[in-house]
Amino acid sequence: MIASISNRATRHQITDVLESPFPLVSRQVSSRRTIVDVSGVKIGGLNIVVMAGPCSVESREQLLPTAHAVKAAGATILRGGAYKPRTSPYDFQGLGVEALRLLKEAREITGLPVVTEVMDTEDVDTIVDYADMLQVGARNMQNFALLRRLARVNRPILLKRGPSATIKEWLLAAEYLLAGGNENVVLCERGIKTFETETRNTLDLASVARIQELSHLPVIVDPSHATGRRSLVPAASRAAIAVGADGLIIEVHPDPDHALSDGPQSLDIQGFADLMQTIQRPLRRV
Ligand code: PEP
Ligand code: MN
Repeated sequence: MIASISNRATRHQITDVLESPFPLVSRQVSSRRTIVDVSGVKIGGLNIVVMAGPCSVESREQLLPTAHAVKAAGATILRGGAYKPRTSPYDFQGLGVEALRLLKEAREITGLPVVTEVMDTEDVDTIVDYADMLQVGARNMQNFALLRRLARVNRPILLKRGPSATIKEWLLAAEYLLAGGNENVVLCERGIKTFETETRNTLDLASVARIQELSHLPVIVDPSHATGRRSLVPAASRAAIAVGADGLIIEVHPDPDHALSDGPQSLDIQGFADLMQTIQRPLRRV
């Protein structure tokens, strides 16, 4: 660890850095912000990166038109769940490898890199064969066995904030990835649990600004899970950009009323295209 710190910091900074609970993700270790490259798409630079696609991959008929549409509207990474963390064991759990194959097909046709969630260390090798970026879902932010395993994969990681995690706990989870050897980490604020019930979660916009004070890692916002309501997704997206987020991850479905997961918060294709029109162009961080 010291070797890796000393590569990025001058000797007099090392004492300070070692006092930090998360020395490798700390901004003290590197005043320059990290840019994470997802198969050619750079996250953390001037451009705002939009990842979009369905909550769950359901079929070829669902995924391919969605992939084409989000690309046409300006998204540069395709999202889609193959292994779904569902609150009820009776809800749709995802198509697994069949979904991964469809994501790869969509990637080949559109050229969009793919991000998908990994829930289990057992699935890591399989998912690496299909996806450009691996997502750690909110419920797994402190799955330390999974984090240790993902520290050793040659793929960037999208680390979502746990629903009840503090900023410090979130950065310590990222520290596991960096300490284990994976420096390509993008953080994602997706709302936290509060007393409020009008929204699915509470979007903690200040966390985005605070993360950028504390860490050199890029941070994006998920307005879909943060709000749980498609009507709020455009406003939350614009707010995220205003506060300085490096990107967005947005759920889009061709027929949200019949989605197998997260329909109420999914934009339809026109809704996503309209949202992209209202976001400042070119998409630049403030
Ligand atoms: C998702 O991206 O579909 C998802 C389950 O997100 P989160 O882990 O933030 O709830
Ligand atoms: Mn979802």
